[in-house]
Amino acid sequence: MGVEPTRHEVTTRQLGRTPARDVSVTVHRYCGGDGPTVYVQAAQHGIELNGPAALRRLHNRLCDAKLAGTVIVVPVMNPLAFDTRSYATPDEYDAQYPNVNRVWPGADDGSFQQRIVAELWPLAAGADAAIDLHTGTPSMLEHVRVVENDKKATALATAFGTNYRLIGDGPISSESGGEASSNVANGDESFTRDDTVRTTQNGEHSGHTQSTETFRIAMTRADVPTITVELGDSRTVDHSVAERGAVGICRVLKQRGMLTASGVLANQLPEPPTQHQLRDDIPVSVTPASGLFEPAANCTVGSEVTDGETLGVVYDPTTFEEKATIATPKPGVIYSLSHGGTVFAGERVASVATPIERTARVDTWIPSYFITHC
Ligand SMILES: [Zn+2]
Repeated sequence: MGVEPTRHEVTTRQLGRTPARDVSVTVHRYCGGDGPTVYVQAAQHGIELNGPAALRRLHNRLCDAKLAGTVIVVPVMNPLAFDTRSYATPDEYDAQYPNVNRVWPGADDGSFQQRIVAELWPLAAGADAAIDLHTGTPSMLEHVRVVENDKKATALATAFGTNYRLIGDGPISSESGGEASSNVANGDESFTRDDTVRTTQNGEHSGHTQSTETFRIAMTRADVPTITVELGDSRTVDHSVAERGAVGICRVLKQRGMLTASGVLANQLPEPPTQHQLRDDIPVSVTPASGLFEPAANCTVGSEVTDGETLGVVYDPTTFEEKATIATPKPGVIYSLSHGGTVFAGERVASVATPIERTARVDTWIPSYFITHC
């Protein structure tokens, strides 16, 4: 490990070609002395803007810092969705797999998005650790997701420093058999199960190679510890959210021994808070009826609820008839809750997770790493 002034370079990586133009991403490399490589990407989903905003703040810090190792940053992983201001990639590009975060690690002989991902995959998989920045709505608890029992990823999550850490349905084999994204009510992350793997059968009909995993699951299979960060406030740029994202990444780099909290980082890296761990093992709350959803007055994200507690009601907005009472099937912490609005039968309105324990900071993982140079 050797700390040296950061050298910054920008390149363009072509990932594919539409009938009339190239599809490429901008890749930043921040290179210091010998040390590990950390890969960071944002905007797999086109409405999640605080990821790129956080990475601009990270850029300003790293350019003036001394660094051990290399940080590779792809600020806009999915320009096709970003340019159209849509959550998923428009069907015109890939009707089979509109959600790019379900096709990792991609496939050279797959659909258009699978091929795009396959071109980017070696850059990510060659790293020693990775951070995937996403953004939910204000109605979702800011959190980091990790694969359960992945101690290395847990160390990254703890260093990043969100107040909550969510684990999915268990070990990799269990997550791979997880449920499909049940509902994309408003296209935002809080209403999709970003940690689970869509077990679509579509690939069987197309003849395409199956590559239907999230980035985090695919990276974990490749033995690269990876965290998915769910920042807040999709569709907008929020100064405090973007700042927390940049600080979180710097804390991960510091924990890996790549950055020291001195110089331009002095007083900018507060210690991460004690992180609460939640298990995402409670069935999501969906409305059985269409209508207008109104959350309970005492319910908000972060609230603890008891078994069977009412999360809100759905009523007919024209007759005022109550159509359904939405109650949590188990006690836990609300990590996602609709602010209220029109809902259709079968739509997710809330998610509750089981608190596990207040987890002490984990800072014992010392990675073995590849020596990389610009
Ligand atoms: Zn996302």
